[in-house]
Amino acid sequence: MKRTGIFFTYFQGERLRDFPQALDGILDKENVSYYDAVYDSGDALYYLQPAPEELLLKVHSSDMVRMIKLTGDYESALYSAGGTVQAVGEIYQGKIDNAFVFTSFGDHHAGRNFYGGMCYFNGAALAITALRERGVGRFAILDTDSHHGDGTRDIFAGDDEVLHVCFCYQDYLDEHNNVDIMIPPHTSDGEYLAKVEREFVLRAIAFQPEYIFWEFGYDTTQGEYGDKGLTRDCHLKLARLIKGVADKVCHGRLIAILCGGSGRAIATYTIPRIIDCLAELGRF
Ligand SMILES: [Zn+2]
Ligand SMILES: [Zn+2]
Repeated sequence: MKRTGIFFTYFQGERLRDFPQALDGILDKENVSYYDAVYDSGDALYYLQPAPEELLLKVHSSDMVRMIKLTGDYESALYSAGGTVQAVGEIYQGKIDNAFVFTSFGDHHAGRNFYGGMCYFNGAALAITALRERGVGRFAILDTDSHHGDGTRDIFAGDDEVLHVCFCYQDYLDEHNNVDIMIPPHTSDGEYLAKVEREFVLRAIAFQPEYIFWEFGYDTTQGEYGDKGLTRDCHLKLARLIKGVADKVCHGRLIAILCGGSGRAIATYTIPRIIDCLAELGRF
């Protein structure tokens, strides 16, 4: 079984209201480690650490950091991005194999000098910067949120060592390891999964990243604000597919980062299933 870290932070909004209780039956598993930012739930073995400010300034401009300090959400944003940074640190040290990171303000709309869509800091970019300081070189980022990962693209455009494959509303683009795959409305689960297989899985196998980041947004689900027609069961199938690639190309080093999606019921249904898949618990 894989050792899975859960990095939990929750500050506001409706979607994560059932957590961490919805993780009952998962948190007590021997191969699952739970890192909690704010709750004294009794389940937390570890504390989630906020992203260090000196790391922020290696990815984002000092102007942007200053502006986010003025929003009143700065501390929450540090914890939100901190989960991903801490997750790769734990994976690097061999304490866990993969991770699921909850965010309140994450992740893919945060660029070097801009932010939006409730994304203040780019946790994946911070984590990649931290790993590079430890000598890790090659990364893949898969984005299955409904919207374009413009912040991530801004940071890694022209970076030969980062494969960024984004499934969104943009027209087809494939240049310099930067790939956009247009997903039209009313896409079936089967069509979506086939596109991910063709456009991400094959590229990742050829690219051979050392870590895979998955910007997981469930706003693609039917009835959500980025509705692409997917059923809520598509995300578990997607998780199996992506975990399979990570197991094949990079010793299972996979970090799933929660991005868009607003429905509480879908979060409560989907997220435990994805974590179950990562930890190979086999309950679903
Ligand atoms: Zn989105
Ligand atoms: Zn895109």
